[in-house]
Amino acid sequence: KLDGRGGFRFFEPEMDERVQARRRLELDLRRAVAAQEFELVYQPQMNLETNRIVGCEALIRWRHPERGTVSPGDFIPLAEEVGLIVGIGEWVLRTACREAARWPGDLTVAVNLSPAQFRGGGFVATVASALEESGLDPRRLELEITEGLLLHDSEANVATLHALRGLGLRIAMDDFGTGYSSLSYLRSFPFDRIKIDRSFVSGDPSGGTGGAMAIVRAVAGLGAALGMATVAEGVETPEQMDSIRREGCTDVQGFLISRPISAADIRRLFAEQAEP
Ligand code: C2E
Ligand code: MG
Ligand code: MG
Ligand code: MG
Repeated sequence: KLDGRGGFRFFEPEMDERVQARRRLELDLRRAVAAQEFELVYQPQMNLETNRIVGCEALIRWRHPERGTVSPGDFIPLAEEVGLIVGIGEWVLRTACREAARWPGDLTVAVNLSPAQFRGGGFVATVASALEESGLDPRRLELEITEGLLLHDSEANVATLHALRGLGLRIAMDDFGTGYSSLSYLRSFPFDRIKIDRSFVSGDPSGGTGGAMAIVRAVAGLGAALGMATVAEGVETPEQMDSIRREGCTDVQGFLISRPISAADIRRLFAEQAEP
């Protein structure tokens, strides 16, 4: 059909290109799963009372043979869409547990979960098996979920959260404050920790640091009232650190403490910290 303005025909090749680029990425991702091109890096979390590193968050990286390091933001959403996240997520879980089992003392590891991992019903058994296989004390594992999990199938997912908690591990609410009804999610499950999203911690010029810090203060207070620890994400400057300390957060994570680093570097860091 000939469109007088040519609008529809004009966009067609572009659409086609985008679909093809996605298809290429998908095939590449499937190949990467088989070739085991993924790696975990670990970002330390510091307790604000003791000023000691208490654990790390495991973050996935794709070491692509041609494209270099690919960030999770550039492939996790597609992995979720095409169902590859279940296998990748299980690899993340098992690898993180095995790694943390080598860390001294009671240092914890936090693992990010995608909602798709909750579907199908086998997830609790997978987590139990990762703990068993690694020998990691369940109290040293934290699972981070986002609001997406409580948006759909929330009753079944909350039941799964309780079953997971029954294994002895901790559950954290990630990116708190970015959702449509973050507050109501706090009523659906007694989280162990709330991770306050980076956007409230970093002085966002559009929002104004004053207002963002008032929110950090409110969430820290909310956490205290509910018996939940509060982690401030994305702390980059000493000034932000001072503020979140003042506002009463219990823990901090961000480039100021450390960027995410390799498993070998984390082990070195823990060995240094353990020295008298
Ligand atoms: P997240 O779970 O909120 O992880 C924190 C992200 O903030 C990480 O980005 C981390 O590198 C970054 N970050 C930490 N401190 C700072 C800081 O001070 N400044 C700035 N600008 N950024 C900071 P990353 O590693 O790119 O991960 C992005 C997101 O991808 C994660 O957000 C998480 O939602 C997802 N993700 C990462 N690994 C996994 C995984 O193994 N499985 C799943 N399902 N998702 C993952
Ligand atoms: Mg996270
Ligand atoms: Mg986060
Ligand atoms: Mg995030």
